[in-house]
Amino acid sequence: MTKKRLPLLIFVLMILSACEKNGTNSNLEGTTDSLIQITILYTNDEHGWFQETSNTNGAAGLTGLWKNKEGYDGSDKFLVLSGGDMWTGAAASTWFQGESMVEVMNAMEYDAAAIGNHEFDFTVSVLNQRLEEMDFPLLSANIIEKESGEIPEFAQPYIIENVDGIQVGIIGLSSTSTPYTTFPAYVEDYEFTSYTEALNEYAPKAVADGAKVLILISHLCVSELKDIADVAKSNGIYIMGAGHCHEVTAQNYNDVIIIGAGDYMEGYVKLDFYYNFTKDVLQDLNYETVYNDDNNIDDDVKTIVDYWIEQTDAVLSEVLGYASEDISRFSVEMYNLVCDSWFYTFPDADITITNTGGIRQDIFAGDVKLETIVGLLPFENTIVELELTGLEVKNCIDGLIYGGMTTAGGYFLSDGSPIDDRAVYTVLTTDYLYSQSSLSFAQYDHTPYYTSVHYRQPLVDWLKSLNTSSSDPLNNYLDSQSRW
Ligand SMILES: [Zn+2]
Repeated sequence: MTKKRLPLLIFVLMILSACEKNGTNSNLEGTTDSLIQITILYTNDEHGWFQETSNTNGAAGLTGLWKNKEGYDGSDKFLVLSGGDMWTGAAASTWFQGESMVEVMNAMEYDAAAIGNHEFDFTVSVLNQRLEEMDFPLLSANIIEKESGEIPEFAQPYIIENVDGIQVGIIGLSSTSTPYTTFPAYVEDYEFTSYTEALNEYAPKAVADGAKVLILISHLCVSELKDIADVAKSNGIYIMGAGHCHEVTAQNYNDVIIIGAGDYMEGYVKLDFYYNFTKDVLQDLNYETVYNDDNNIDDDVKTIVDYWIEQTDAVLSEVLGYASEDISRFSVEMYNLVCDSWFYTFPDADITITNTGGIRQDIFAGDVKLETIVGLLPFENTIVELELTGLEVKNCIDGLIYGGMTTAGGYFLSDGSPIDDRAVYTVLTTDYLYSQSSLSFAQYDHTPYYTSVHYRQPLVDWLKSLNTSSSDPLNNYLDSQSRW
């Protein structure tokens, strides 16, 4: 279709270049133009962190801050937007596959969210369940269902919101990295297509549908947004929300405002501007990043947060097994237990490699509860699967612990056969270790398989399956043979 240009395009450059961060609205004095103010409150990469932490006040604090500092009243003139990755992270969200987070975001009255890679972490069928619970839509203009060639039903390329009588088009984009930053099998039916093509197709459609102002919300890093800034501008988009890289920013890049609110609900970006009806332009843009550490707690949101924290506590008290004696976090038995547990979930893997630093507490004699295992393996790390040669394995393991192999008296697999330098092995490690430039994993395998399985989950599942008790305690199943 032919591309329609927004009439505001010719004016906006001049206005943007005159605009300063946190600038005042001095242009407005004495004007007779008809003006409507729009305020965007933006978060991204929330990852289920709605609870209060030692760092920030969570969702209740954020909402309180919006109400007290920004005058947020849930009315039309506010657009509350997310750049995606709403869940997977905090246990209170992960255990409930995002359901708790949706309830919190509904109470905060989000208007739309871009689709992040982690939205797929619990399968598309769970995503559809979440969508039914959501009071706001999921946006992405660059996900195509392979079979139909269409945007899948769970996504909308854009929406048009009526803000005080102005039609505001909000377009979404998802990261093209999604097929390997969530469980790949969950998104194998979809293609994540070019950002440029998606904008060139859907921005004109939004304009044809009546949008006077266009805003992009995305699960794209700031560097990616900079790459498409010119395309966005040529389509009349002057405001772009980032995600995925957890960046805190509010900047003018070549006359496009790029915003990112970091992560974990630790802050937000406030961006406001006037739409000038008379001249059909945006003017007087103000934007700032705000940290969520003020003591403004919204009671309604806090009630919902407290409910889900209680539910989570109830789940974490689940008894998984029984230990007759303490198992020290510094013991060979503990190292072997953690390394071997991954084979329970990935029986076809040859070797597991992790670090002792990821193991953080002892298992105490008595009931072994889920909260102990959460304390033992507390980080939000997931398992990645690599294909490495024997020689590469040998070059990677210095200072680390492992399962499926030993270096005691030579390099052997657990069945006693020697590790062949040229043979290729299926190796599991964490995304954390994979990302360390001081280790060689990424250098040897550029295309890891991100399983999305939390590094703790196999141990939880294995413990349950062992069904240990005081008459048959976990200690009976420990391997005390040092492998290094
Ligand atoms: Zn992401």
